[in-house]
Amino acid sequence: MSKILIRGAKVLGGEVQDVLIDGETVAAVGTGLSDEGARVIDAAGQILLPGLVDLHTHLREPGREDSETVLTGTRAAARGGYTSVFAMANTFPVADTAGVVEQVWRLGREHGYCDVQPIGAVTVGLEGKQLAELGAMHDSAAGVTVFSDDGKCVDDAVIMRRALEYVKAFGGVVAQHAQEPRLTEGAQMNEGIVSAELGLGGWPAVAEESIIARDVLLAEHVGSRVHICHLSTAGSVEIVRWAKSRGIDVTAEVTPHHLLLTDELVRSYNPVYKVNPPLRTEADVMALREALADGTIDIVATDHAPHPHEDKDCEWAAAAMGMVGLETALSVVQHTMVDSGLMNWADVADRMSVKPARIGGAEDHGRPVSAGEPANLTLLDPAYRGPVNPAGFASRSRNTPYEGRELPGRVTHTFLRGRATVVDGKLA
Ligand SMILES: [Zn+2]
Repeated sequence: MSKILIRGAKVLGGEVQDVLIDGETVAAVGTGLSDEGARVIDAAGQILLPGLVDLHTHLREPGREDSETVLTGTRAAARGGYTSVFAMANTFPVADTAGVVEQVWRLGREHGYCDVQPIGAVTVGLEGKQLAELGAMHDSAAGVTVFSDDGKCVDDAVIMRRALEYVKAFGGVVAQHAQEPRLTEGAQMNEGIVSAELGLGGWPAVAEESIIARDVLLAEHVGSRVHICHLSTAGSVEIVRWAKSRGIDVTAEVTPHHLLLTDELVRSYNPVYKVNPPLRTEADVMALREALADGTIDIVATDHAPHPHEDKDCEWAAAAMGMVGLETALSVVQHTMVDSGLMNWADVADRMSVKPARIGGAEDHGRPVSAGEPANLTLLDPAYRGPVNPAGFASRSRNTPYEGRELPGRVTHTFLRGRATVVDGKLA
């Protein structure tokens, strides 16, 4: 059995402690620990968190292996400090059957960089017309509990109601990409002052907010659980806050890029900033930060959306939507939430590990850093400063909005069930 002694890390940013890993498990947490057979990692000045969990990753396999595969995506995840990712269903073929979700789940296990939990499609082919085999996907080896047509909105209220009713039987959740399709036809960016000046088609806030309002009411009506993907406007925050105060079982996520970037960047016409939902205004960004800090928004999820350069290095209107995010998420959260004083590291552990694991039912993740728990851990150096260099990404794609931008923090080690997947910032 391999033993590792992490010496002198601040656990969740608090007390300096030593952590002994024995095999797949945390064997001891305390001060002055020693073990003759253990490999020692000097972690002075570093923060130890439970391994991060991403409820919203696009791994692109099967079908778009030119942009990402389960292998490259999970390597990128490990580099970013993640030990578990939930893979979105909009692949080719769509993950709408037990066969496809089992394939993705198995690839994750074989590669061993990160646990991969497939998300099943809500409707056949993401077409919004007919419920997919939700029960068969749940009963499969992949044990799917999260269902989403992400990339598209489940806009038919009757289909959404049926999905909520169906998943209720086994404690599942429907994760909604809230985008009223008629209100966003031809949309290229956030609808507002900048879109008016640039003459680009606008994606209005109300297209998101109206679907969230409808879905929290549907969830209340059927007594089921709904999760809102990549919430992006101040108005959406207000609706989720209201729904929670009313006792509705709703959770919500925000992406790192919506915590930092605004629609002013679209003035550059650089398609790296083209994303769905679009970058919003400064007022929205500030509302999202506050809501994440006060718990109205439950979690950070990356919406890691890799695209090959030919789909992004083109004119704005023709470019694909999305940006990669796994390898920069923790740095963006440190910059926007921790270094700004809005959250501490225990809050980061809560929003990026504990709560996403709970929402998705990833039982071995988001656990306390204590003896007897699975050794899924992330060690980071918060003092590091340096420019983002996409050439060094483990992801197959490079569509990051942060190229050359200085962001704080660096993941030095990631442990998946006691095995180091990242050592000194490099893949092991
Ligand atoms: Zn989406």
